[in-house]
Amino acid sequence: MAKIQMTTPLVEMDGDEMTRIIWKMIKDILIEPYIDLKSDYYDLGLVHRNETNDQVTIDSANAAKKYGVAVKCATITPNAQRVEEYKLKEMWKSPNGTIRAILDGTVFRKPILVKGITPYIPTWTKPITIARHAYGDIYKNTELKAPKGSKAELVITNPDGTETRALIHDFKTSDGIVQGVHNLDSSISSFAKACFNYALDVKENLWFASKDTISKTYDHRFKDIFAEIYENEYKARFEAAGIEYFYTLIDDVVARVVRSEGGFIWACKNYDGDVMSDMLATAFGSLGLMTSVLVSPDGVYEYEAAHGTVTRHYYQYLKGEKTSTNPIATIFAWSGAFRKRGELDNIPALCEYADKLERASIQTMEEGIMDKNLAAMSKLPEKRVVDTETFLKEINARLAKLM
Ligand code: NAP
Ligand code: MG
Repeated sequence: MAKIQMTTPLVEMDGDEMTRIIWKMIKDILIEPYIDLKSDYYDLGLVHRNETNDQVTIDSANAAKKYGVAVKCATITPNAQRVEEYKLKEMWKSPNGTIRAILDGTVFRKPILVKGITPYIPTWTKPITIARHAYGDIYKNTELKAPKGSKAELVITNPDGTETRALIHDFKTSDGIVQGVHNLDSSISSFAKACFNYALDVKENLWFASKDTISKTYDHRFKDIFAEIYENEYKARFEAAGIEYFYTLIDDVVARVVRSEGGFIWACKNYDGDVMSDMLATAFGSLGLMTSVLVSPDGVYEYEAAHGTVTRHYYQYLKGEKTSTNPIATIFAWSGAFRKRGELDNIPALCEYADKLERASIQTMEEGIMDKNLAAMSKLPEKRVVDTETFLKEINARLAKLM
């Protein structure tokens, strides 16, 4: 069988620890036998980030901008212990943070559903995709303690030097606390566009919520920006695609999400997304089955697994032990990237390969072959726990039949 040919390179961002080992195995076992892989390769492993003073991360993000599609392996975000372990010149920033800032992107997380792993909410028969606005609000706040007898005010110094003031609170009777938060119209607009584009891309309804009844200027601005952009730029395309944009209050949306059957995108303000993404990930079951894609407002896609580098398994691997690490979310990062590349370059064979790779992966797990963590959760009557390499070979046995 002739290998599938690509016309535009895929931006490949390699990473760290166990996921770096799995990355190579996926390429060897599941990709290179079928695809003449054209990749623009960047090594974001911590050693190389340190050697390049993190320039490689910036270069990889710019390459993603140039080519439009990237696939990323999990990477270490250094802390004090990592600085010691890797003898780092500096505590380099989170690569995901750097890439997200350069692409001005929004992260969409979507679980993979398989038979045997029932979500804690059994009516969720379709995945719920969550998008978190990753700028501002309490994550860029200023906080002060206010002693009894003090007065807190909000002051805006206008471009012409005049001041606009509003009383926050007169602390007459007690000590207290004060917090200042902000957001930017430009950031909210980028977030809204990324969400509308992604909804059109996957043809799913988009839900967004805030607390505009209480926060009549701040949260209301989010509601208005979404509404304006929808009316002016997306409404016609949503109608043509047969999908809806739906806005409601945050507490109402939580009730609706719980009662739903899934199958939509839930856009969240920063804090709501922080909290709700952990709730959804837990409710759907396994980190090893959670995919993630960063989408920029101008349509750049960067696919990855939502989990980290699985450090504990890596140390076992270094001792020469076989590990049972779940490669599925990383495989789906590759399949997502190939499908998108195939769509953009009009290469149907690449899209078909992506579909088949995902089908073979799901079939393998539904036939009871899986890693240790998933097996502990799966309700299938017969299970076979396998090491990572055997897992990949079992997937390939099924993929080969489909190809
Ligand atoms: P983690 O790598 O996601 O692993 C946490 C635990 O979850 C693992 O020890 C393992 O549990 C389980 N797990 C996660 N993925 C799994 C998989 N594919 N198969 C089987 N089990 C899996 O999170 P972490 O330990 O907090 O972080 C490790 C490193 O990853 C850190 O250096 C962090 O900076 C980095 N990180 C990177 C990203 C990213 O690049 N997007 C995201 C998060 C974290 P058991 O040990 O119980 O088997
Ligand atoms: Mg969180």
